Amino acid sequence: MKKIACFCIPAHGHTNPMLPVLRALVDHGNAVRFYSFQAFREKVLATGAEFVACDAYLSELSAKEEARLKRVSTTEMTLQAIKATIQMDAFIAEEFKTFFPDVIFTDSVCFWGKLTAFKYGVPMVVSTSTFAFNQLSSQYMKYSPKELADMVLGLPKISKALHSLEPYGYKVKNALSLVQSDNATDSIVYATQRYQPYSESFSEHYLFAGPSLFSAVKPRKSHERPLVYISMGTIINDRPDFYRSCVAALKDMDVDVVLSCGDHMETKLPAPLPERFSAYASVDQPQVLSRANVFITHCGMNSVSESLYMATPMVFYPQTGEQCAVARRASELGAGVFLKNDGAEGIRRAVREVLEHPAYAQAAAECSADFRAAPGPAEAAKFIETAPHTSSGPDVLAELNKHNGIAQIVYWLIVCAIIVLFGLLVTWKNVWIIGVVAGMVSSPILKIVQQKRYPKLIQKIKQAER
Ligand code: UDP
Repeated sequence: MKKIACFCIPAHGHTNPMLPVLRALVDHGNAVRFYSFQAFREKVLATGAEFVACDAYLSELSAKEEARLKRVSTTEMTLQAIKATIQMDAFIAEEFKTFFPDVIFTDSVCFWGKLTAFKYGVPMVVSTSTFAFNQLSSQYMKYSPKELADMVLGLPKISKALHSLEPYGYKVKNALSLVQSDNATDSIVYATQRYQPYSESFSEHYLFAGPSLFSAVKPRKSHERPLVYISMGTIINDRPDFYRSCVAALKDMDVDVVLSCGDHMETKLPAPLPERFSAYASVDQPQVLSRANVFITHCGMNSVSESLYMATPMVFYPQTGEQCAVARRASELGAGVFLKNDGAEGIRRAVREVLEHPAYAQAAAECSADFRAAPGPAEAAKFIETAPHTSSGPDVLAELNKHNGIAQIVYWLIVCAIIVLFGLLVTWKNVWIIGVVAGMVSSPILKIVQQKRYPKLIQKIKQAER
């Protein structure tokens, strides 16, 4: 029996996948304590784990801070997480006097969980509620200019805040080192090897457990009319404009519609809703998805995984860089279409495309079969119980970076040769322009070289292993 302390930020999308793992840990006879928040109390207690409320350690938010968090500002989330770490410090020290854990199981962006593990030298397993992102898989993310500006402009503030952690015994190089998936940290990812982009580039410290959900329901897709399910998730769901467009798009189609839109429904939805539309603040999403024929989704990792688990093809409407990555991967697997135009006509066209072409449902069904064969929460629990882990496999990233270094040298040698030849044969005037252009295109060119190199490298490693 192990003592396991679990930490997560107050967000459904991060908490939900940890819960079936907690249940498995409890079933295996471990003492499991979850440092969570009142909104999740019932869910946590239902797993059999002990619940400890940490609401008192979150700062009161100003209107501006609250608005930034609602927009999923990475800077604001990081600053709040650093504050919470400091505010929780004395409380955790007191807790650990009577419940010193053998392992800490923490969400990947829950700084106080990770920093507590480092401070007390406790083995840590990270719960990654998105894909695991390293230098390769993060290429799937597409940040909006707003998100990029938020990250870049926030750096000085974050760096200052990180220094404020030092007097409490937390040493952090930079924020990236706290959030990036590295090959030395024991991590559970709720994706399968097939679904995770560039899964071969992650070491044996990673368990690709597959989606973590309680539902034992099987997909059941044939009904009188196709069922369209719409949800923008639990965070950025205040989108009356979009719900109105969905109603306009689908009211004359021969479909049933279930809409989940979060609290304060009356302010978000047009009234009265057309016949065959049902709206809820919250639904049992896996249950609805098991019957849905198409899901219009914001592409949160959990929502897309649940959809694929239930063999439901999707219309992808991502709102953040991370959600773009999830949408892009699910689209590569053929399980849906992007919403190119979020007006009524665009929505109608996208829903029709998915309903009229069985290939999307077929691709989702293939993902469902893959997900259902994944290790699942029971294996994830074993992985936590047996932490820390070692990795004896090849370091694909290190190998790839070696090749990248050589490619960089070759690229710049070629550029220099072109500059010299151009100078000697044509003119030396304005020859610097070639250098500038070469600098500008170097990153995309080297990325293409890396992408071409990657499958060859994996093949070589697999051959060597045989
Ligand atoms: N969810 C739910 N009922 C709803 C809408 C969402 O239970 O009506 C759950 C859903 O099953 C998923 C989570 O909330 O597990 C949403 O997580 P996701 O990562 O998709 O998006 P987020 O809300 O974090 O943006």
